[in-house]
Amino acid sequence: MKTVAIIPAAGSGKRYGNASKAFLPVGGRPVISWVLDLLEQIEEINEVIPVFKDIDMERGLRLIEEKGYKKIKKVAPGGRERQDSVFHALNLITDADIVIIHDAVRPAAKPELFIDILNSLKDCDGVITGVPLIDTIKEVDKGFVVSTPERSRYWLIQTPQAFKFKLLKDSYKKAIKEGLYFTDDSGLIEHYGGKVRVIMGSYQNLKITVPEDIRILEAILRSDVGGPR
Ligand code: C5P
Repeated sequence: MKTVAIIPAAGSGKRYGNASKAFLPVGGRPVISWVLDLLEQIEEINEVIPVFKDIDMERGLRLIEEKGYKKIKKVAPGGRERQDSVFHALNLITDADIVIIHDAVRPAAKPELFIDILNSLKDCDGVITGVPLIDTIKEVDKGFVVSTPERSRYWLIQTPQAFKFKLLKDSYKKAIKEGLYFTDDSGLIEHYGGKVRVIMGSYQNLKITVPEDIRILEAILRSDVGGPR
């Protein structure tokens, strides 16, 4: 069973003053290095493909060389949308059974979560991680409430997400050809009728979106309490 991890790191950080979020320092080192260090330790993951945009390629390659990551044999060029970036990496994979995709800007994911995901990839096409909503959600239009959906049915979805390689690649090819874009990889699989299981992630598996997230993540990584998982 060959498992390849794709790490999209080629965002333009529009909500973060156009910074390359994957290279922001967290606890004194680039956030992506937390993620790559973690993957290097997980035996079940055989190969890792980071995706860098052009202007980050040089420092990305330098980081890989300095840290001596053994699982990284290829690096993919970034695309306009996250989906294009992941597609570029998928096109570099010649042989895999499972592909696991994890954002470069979620440094607090625990190794156990990756193992859980891989173990849950039975009788389905993909497994995604997330957390049930804590707050009430409302549908709002022009500043007024339209409806209050039943909260217990809704989850916030995170990465890592894992899929069977062949189905993922075929679905990606179709979506790119049809010009369809989704906000996560699972959305694409769901669109073509794939069956996706959801497992419990962690409220601490934050994605860096705005500057305040860095301080919160530094506290999480320092304490390493880790929450439920
Ligand atoms: O922008 P957002 O925070 O949703 O991005 C999630 C992840 O996808 C980040 O790690 C970002 O670097 C990556 N990404 C990418 N290529 C893009 C857009 C986002 O690799 N075109």
